[in-house]
Amino acid sequence: MIVKNNLDVQSGVLNCSKLELQKILIENGFPKFKADQIFIWLYRFGKTSFFDMSNIGKNDQNTLEKLFYIYRPRIVDTKHSADGTIKFLLELSDQNTIETVFIPDTKRNTICISSQVGCCVGCKFCNTGKAGFVRNLYTEEIVSQFLIVKDYLNLWQSDERLSNIVFMGMGEPLFNHQNVLRAIENLMTDEKEGISRRKITLSTSGVTDVLSQIIEKLQCRLAISLHAPNNEIRRKIMPINNVHKIEDIISVCKAYTKYHEYMKITFEYLLLSGINDSKKDAEGLVELLSGINGKVNLLQFNAWDGCDFEASPEKTVLQFAQVLKNKGITVSIRAKRGEDIMAACGQLSSGIAQRTVI
Ligand code: SF4
Repeated sequence: MIVKNNLDVQSGVLNCSKLELQKILIENGFPKFKADQIFIWLYRFGKTSFFDMSNIGKNDQNTLEKLFYIYRPRIVDTKHSADGTIKFLLELSDQNTIETVFIPDTKRNTICISSQVGCCVGCKFCNTGKAGFVRNLYTEEIVSQFLIVKDYLNLWQSDERLSNIVFMGMGEPLFNHQNVLRAIENLMTDEKEGISRRKITLSTSGVTDVLSQIIEKLQCRLAISLHAPNNEIRRKIMPINNVHKIEDIISVCKAYTKYHEYMKITFEYLLLSGINDSKKDAEGLVELLSGINGKVNLLQFNAWDGCDFEASPEKTVLQFAQVLKNKGITVSIRAKRGEDIMAACGQLSSGIAQRTVI
């Protein structure tokens, strides 16, 4: 007998956690271990049909094909940067589109994943925020960004891996935390090939009430889009600060590092000329972060049509970094990646990859 599952999106196997899949399989007369086999085929080998899962019998393959579909979005467009970065425009089943970015580096291959179609946070410096919010992504639409990039790059049979995942694409992941947490869990599940929790980073604008509720469940690294040393400046560039104030962010960060003892928090700080880049601002940041197990990642602004900000000059960036370093704070300056294809920080969302550690 075939029992329909009761997930939001019926029958999308990539919408299931392993536990949820086990439950549905047991209801349909399968043994529990079948979920392990299916997960390996889906996440280690990237299969898109149950008929390609060779250790599953013909009858079971037929039943599984009736029960589930295996999702992939459609690649509408790819843009290749001179630095190797690739930006994917993906079309979802309802014709909405999202962007995903692949950023290769000498030591790692990172994928920057979106969690929503658009974003409602409205950070003034962000192109995605300007476009507004459409909807949350389902779990399958999140994990399939990872899977389809592996398809595209032919990585299933290769020694090369997608080693790092950052939730810094379109959207605020904590406004879609259930799907994002399930996606993270699924991408880590395969013990042999799964991505370690230290290689996955969730970046948030600081949705403190949600963050405080999920600290124990959040198995990955945390990055906070801070961008200011105090409420006065932050409020001007990030309207979300009217609700989630800096002191609440610092307090929840302390709770996170207490629980995840060895996980440093990354504080992202986008330097905007004349707004948040003075020596006083750097000193304020030092004071704010005292006592937190964290590091600061300085971002250089990438302009987009119609934006009201300018990037801080190189000299100012280095001086800002030096103030932090002098006070013992680990600081890096993020390299600009994919700027020529509008895949860099603030153009799609946030960029990746360290350039300098001073
Ligand atoms: Fe949303 Fe992130 Fe852009 Fe802010 S920076 S508007 S949270 S996508």
